[in-house]
Amino acid sequence: MPHFKIYPLSTGTFYTAETSLLYYLANDANPGVKIPAVYWMFVLRGPDVVILVDNGPGDPATWGAKYHHNYERLPDQEPIAALKKLGLSPDDVDIVINTHLHWDHCHANHLFSKATIRVQAAEIQEALKPVPAHRSLYTPAEANPPWIQAMSRTVPVNGDEELLPGIQILALPSHTIGFQSVLVDTAIGPILVAGDILPYFDNWTGRWGYDHIPSGIMEASLHQYYACFDRIEKIKPVAILPGVDPKVAETEVYG
Ligand SMILES: [Zn+2]
Repeated sequence: MPHFKIYPLSTGTFYTAETSLLYYLANDANPGVKIPAVYWMFVLRGPDVVILVDNGPGDPATWGAKYHHNYERLPDQEPIAALKKLGLSPDDVDIVINTHLHWDHCHANHLFSKATIRVQAAEIQEALKPVPAHRSLYTPAEANPPWIQAMSRTVPVNGDEELLPGIQILALPSHTIGFQSVLVDTAIGPILVAGDILPYFDNWTGRWGYDHIPSGIMEASLHQYYACFDRIEKIKPVAILPGVDPKVAETEVYG
């Protein structure tokens, strides 16, 4: 089985996320406390293949201002500049996996012109016609967002799929109905690139007396969400990489 290494790259920081957006009801004494959220792009490098899991939000001055919200992006956090730090160019990317199509995860899909995009079919349907309460999280299709621009290179996923030896896509309806995480074989064991099903490390390791805490933003039912937690428990990954925790940066290379 080939082993992969996982490199997290920041594509920007949203400094004023509220606790209640990231931890569902867990800290109802302080729902308005602001905490930082880092928009991670994960690069999976294996023998002869480069895979991205998510690739960050759109430019704050254009997409952010017009359709979503502001956040800080330094020049070296622009996705192509960030990749360059690993000696990679956009054409080196073979596959892009979007955990979901919220605007902060897929706004560089169009930049990787040689890559096949893999996202759940159910997530594409949701992004085209989001449930009203989640409209602000998806860029309107009429605006021709990057994931639409890359649609001709998109191959929808239906449920779980072994993408390649060592790379397993897991359908986990939770934060969104078409959500997926990626289980990666590494030299130290399987690592779950979880994404926003677990925004922070302690959504999984527990806090305030809870074993695990769902995101404050969810589209599946809570029962479905906890069933995903049960699945992850059974898989027993050696590490779980959350969607937006600044502490991901404490390790330069996972696996
Ligand atoms: Zn999201």
